[in-house]
Amino acid sequence: MNIDEMKDYIYYCAKNLYSKFDFSHVDNIHWIGGFDDECNDYCYECCLKEIEENEKAFVDGGWGGAGCNGGHEDSNRCEKCGKALDYSLSKSGVMNETEYFLEQKLDDIDNEIAFELYQIFEDSGYYSINNEEIREIYKLALLIANIMGITIKNRFEIMDI
Ligand SMILES: [Zn+2]
Repeated sequence: MNIDEMKDYIYYCAKNLYSKFDFSHVDNIHWIGGFDDECNDYCYECCLKEIEENEKAFVDGGWGGAGCNGGHEDSNRCEKCGKALDYSLSKSGVMNETEYFLEQKLDDIDNEIAFELYQIFEDSGYYSINNEEIREIYKLALLIANIMGITIKNRFEIMDI
């Protein structure tokens, strides 16, 4: 498989994760506006609780993607309760997460893991990534496709979605 085919395969894997798993456990990113709380990310409920004691503070954010630090190095969770929050990965985050999941020897995927894998495959498309790195991400995509029971016979099948 050449590099472009590998990129298609990675994209195909992202689309499958998105359609086969439920990402409703993921909340948008919220943070406290009105004073500096060191840029912590919260789920909506925890952010509301955090501002109760402070008249000047308000719930800020409420959207997905990158938090106030820009791209994340790994997955994002609520500072208080640990609920999964939306995020986007930096380029090094994409590679860190790829290596992490390659080491995990996964044999099953739940919604939480599926969301983190989805972010890797989806965000890898935003950066200029060298061939060596594409091969690593592709290795992970192959593994995940195998766990999901997806088999792809040829490139046209990938393009046809
Ligand atoms: Zn929370």
